[in-house]
Amino acid sequence: MNEYDSNRLYDTVKKIGYEKTQNYEDANCYLLNTCHIRDKAKEKVYHEIGRVKKIFRSKQKPLVIIAGCVAQAENQEMLKREPYIDLVIGPQSYHKINDTILNHIEKRKKIEETEFDAVSKFQYLSKIKNESGKVSSFLTIQEGCDKFCHFCVVPYTRGPEYSRPFNQIIDEAKYLADNGTKEIILLGQNVNAYDNEGYKLSNLIMEIEKLTQIKRIRYTTSHPKDMTDDLIEVYGVSKKLMPLVHLPVQSGSDKVLKLMNRKHVIKDYLKIYERLKKINSTVEFSSDFIIAYPGEDKNAFESTLNLIKKIKFINSFSFIFSPRPGTVASNLKLIERKVSLERLELVQKELFNYQLEKNRSLKNKVINVLVENKTKKSIKFFGRSEYMTPVIFDGNDEDVGKIIKVKITNSNQNTLFGERVEKLNLRVA
Ligand code: SF4
Repeated sequence: MNEYDSNRLYDTVKKIGYEKTQNYEDANCYLLNTCHIRDKAKEKVYHEIGRVKKIFRSKQKPLVIIAGCVAQAENQEMLKREPYIDLVIGPQSYHKINDTILNHIEKRKKIEETEFDAVSKFQYLSKIKNESGKVSSFLTIQEGCDKFCHFCVVPYTRGPEYSRPFNQIIDEAKYLADNGTKEIILLGQNVNAYDNEGYKLSNLIMEIEKLTQIKRIRYTTSHPKDMTDDLIEVYGVSKKLMPLVHLPVQSGSDKVLKLMNRKHVIKDYLKIYERLKKINSTVEFSSDFIIAYPGEDKNAFESTLNLIKKIKFINSFSFIFSPRPGTVASNLKLIERKVSLERLELVQKELFNYQLEKNRSLKNKVINVLVENKTKKSIKFFGRSEYMTPVIFDGNDEDVGKIIKVKITNSNQNTLFGERVEKLNLRVA
């Protein structure tokens, strides 16, 4: 979501004359969009400011803006602690960025904008074109969260759940489609909780599916509690919804899920898995895992391993629990570091095995790849499989933006390698 937000911030400041530069030393304005999900996020921001100060030591100071969730969480504190910062803008106040900059330039006043005002934000942003222009583009449909998992800062930094109006989203999707996008990734902290005047995520998917230029649809990140029947059924009828379901489970133990305040149990999760597999056997799962959450005993940890063995997730994120300031879990007693590391190693070994297994099983198979761009060294091409796996292959410039057939010749844990299939030698007699 931060990538989407950063692009929209850029689309906005362009209106008052700012052009993007990759060269820091040339910048008049330094805009740092921050993420509070990361460990030690606050300290990383101050460290980054220290770096900017060094770059500009003998030059005119740029306008320094801190945006995003760290800005929201720290607000006034940032301006007090680091006088080099000029403006602090929370994620629900992006639409005010131009006024805030102009106001600062005129009055030389430090400003903090951290109100939760998602309705005005999206009303404003809908008037500014999403200039992503990428083959695969993000589109935010929902923000915020009402679930308050005990380890998570999102409800405090992004505010309550808000779903953008259905038509506003479809207009943005059409604009992206008309400007070269082939794949849309619908975004939200609780994307499958989307509900606008009765329109659900399933309705959005089926409506976007009607856009002929759009070839693939994905969504992230979802919550098991909001995996409703209508959404599950879309996997049986949609031609464009990709078969990778990223559904964070966090732990395989009901006891730990309760301690986390996750509001779902493993039985629910397995039911979703079984129903989806029945409706569409090509569906595969990926997930997020928090290992060594306070209260995770040996049995609870083994339940997580058992769940991984059962579902065979093909691509997941796993981390040792680390407390986020201001959350309920921030004061809980941590599990010994050595034990936490051992558990993480066991979980990752299991997860990586399935990932490797899945990739190896594709050797000599021909798969559909949406070509996104040339690799950095501009020799090979980069695309993604239907399961989001990066694919590197020999291709042609005209392939960019198309779904082509690639024969997989090799793989590692994260990437598939292959060659373009010019023409399939199919024969019929
Ligand atoms: S549902 Fe997701 S965003 Fe909401 S509190 Fe839990 S982890 Fe955070």
